[in-house]
Amino acid sequence: MASVHYDLLVIGGGSGGLAASKAAAKYGKKVAVCDFVKPSEAGTTWGLGGTCVNVGCIPKKLMHQAAQIGEIMKTDAASYGWEADAPKHNWETMVNNVQLHIKSLNFGYRSELMSNNVKYYNAYATFTDPKTVVAVDKKGKETVLTADAFVIACGGRPKYLDIPGCKEHCITSDDVFAMPTAPGKTLVVGASYVALECAGFIHGVGFETHVMMRSIPLRGFDQQMAMHIKTYMQEHGINFIEGAVPTKVELTPSGKKLVTWAHNDGTTASAEYDTVLMAVGRDVTPGQMGVDKAGVAVNPKSGKIPTVAERTNVEHIYAIGDVIDGEALSPPSQLTELTPVAIQAGKLLAARLYGGGTEQMDYHGVPTTVYTPIEYGCVGLSEEAAEAALGKENLEVYHTYFTPLEWTVPHRGENKCYAKLLCDKTKGELVVGLHICGPNAGEMTQGFAVALKCGATKAHFDSTVGIHPTNVEQFTTLSITKASGTSAESTGC
Ligand code: FAD
Ligand code: NDP
Repeated sequence: MASVHYDLLVIGGGSGGLAASKAAAKYGKKVAVCDFVKPSEAGTTWGLGGTCVNVGCIPKKLMHQAAQIGEIMKTDAASYGWEADAPKHNWETMVNNVQLHIKSLNFGYRSELMSNNVKYYNAYATFTDPKTVVAVDKKGKETVLTADAFVIACGGRPKYLDIPGCKEHCITSDDVFAMPTAPGKTLVVGASYVALECAGFIHGVGFETHVMMRSIPLRGFDQQMAMHIKTYMQEHGINFIEGAVPTKVELTPSGKKLVTWAHNDGTTASAEYDTVLMAVGRDVTPGQMGVDKAGVAVNPKSGKIPTVAERTNVEHIYAIGDVIDGEALSPPSQLTELTPVAIQAGKLLAARLYGGGTEQMDYHGVPTTVYTPIEYGCVGLSEEAAEAALGKENLEVYHTYFTPLEWTVPHRGENKCYAKLLCDKTKGELVVGLHICGPNAGEMTQGFAVALKCGATKAHFDSTVGIHPTNVEQFTTLSITKASGTSAESTGC
């Protein structure tokens, strides 16, 4: 079969793949992207753009916004003088409008590839040798593609548990954002980013929501902050089933899902739900696309691809985004599975390959936000990691609870938000970690990530004039250390 040759072939048209391919084409290279979405177990599928746009960041943030609007209407509006009937949420309207926005983004990505002269194959790519892939489209048509260099940016997909009824009766984050009918009473299994964010917006738009957590919330994150989020969610009506794992899921004659679970102490229990959402982590998929035929090594435990400066063990094959092995980076990073990380790595790689660039991707100091009912933003080390790295005696923790001004009039509760700054005493109180739980935490954290990259110290924070009245001004007035034992609850202005 005749083949088509490219300077660069990118496998995966998600955050990383699109960024790398467009950047490489701008340097005058002949570039193609293969992107293909295998339907989820429940049959959901979507367009170009990968996880973030279709089944990740974008629909998640929009549905989080839907929940936040509800909270303002239900909790705050009347106190500020708005007289309205009790608000009612329509799931179908939200899903339709979110999906319309996603379709416009899918269209935009296709147009951008065209205008950047990147050839798009809506086809699943499989390596047959180190320089050849076969791309198969949805009608089964095969195209043979060869290239001088490859970027693997194939992302990941949600896992299911190996228990009876899981794949048949449960959904995942690949399905929830396009669910045509309202989820009803929902069980979310898992307690990390995806689980807590989905539980937050499902509950926020009006459905009874339970979270089944086998160990701790938000593993890998600062546990004081994680517990703060969990407590807030519980106080707002989300039920946590702790120390438990599901053992089977059955369909009842009325169409409900009967979930049986086992507690750590060996006892079992069961309950019926309308929807069961599995959020128990993600599997990367390079194993399915013949990387062994190309000689690319994968971590046998995680399936992820170890890289050095985004290069795999094969000279001309690179990997970016969720598929790379964060544990194999030096030093390891647990924040590799984020859209801006994939984009930045892709752009810098293209600049190094074709534009004479020398800048390496920095997988450290990556800021992130968890969009739970109370948002959590952070950059740098968790308190646990800072203690381990510096020694408890060398770590100063400044902290404060606070009440957003906007929450005072509707009496949303005092001191429900929290901020802390972790400082290295041996380096002039160099700030090594910043954490905040409160409204718009993502917006608050981004700028501080720049400050930490610039080597900000506590003295820099102290000498910065705050913006009043904001929540983020807390960081310019922190004076109470954890070590002092003084109460960190704040009062007044
Ligand atoms: P992806 O975006 O997953 O793209 C990979 C593409 O490759 C997919 O379209 C896939 O179908 C395709 N593909 C796979 N194999 C092949 C093949 N062999 N041939 C052709 N095509 C193939 N990150 C944030 O920064 N902020 C957030 O708020 C956030 N929220 C999230 C919420 C959820 C629910 C989830 C699941 C993730 C979220 N993320 C968030 C993470 C973010 O979406 C990912 O880190 C990011 O999309 C990874 O980009 P990528 O390029 O590695 O892969
Ligand atoms: P994670 O791997 O981070 O978490 C998996 C969760 O599932 C954990 O709570 C884990 O519990 C639980 N779990 C795993 N196996 C089982 C099991 N057999 N039975 C019961 N529970 C189980 O995955 P996520 O899907 O939440 O997130 C993946 C990545 O996506 C994140 O690392 C993040 O980078 C990205 N993301 C980013 C977001 C953002 O930026 N806001 C939002 C969502 C995702 P345990 O702790 O006990 O192992």
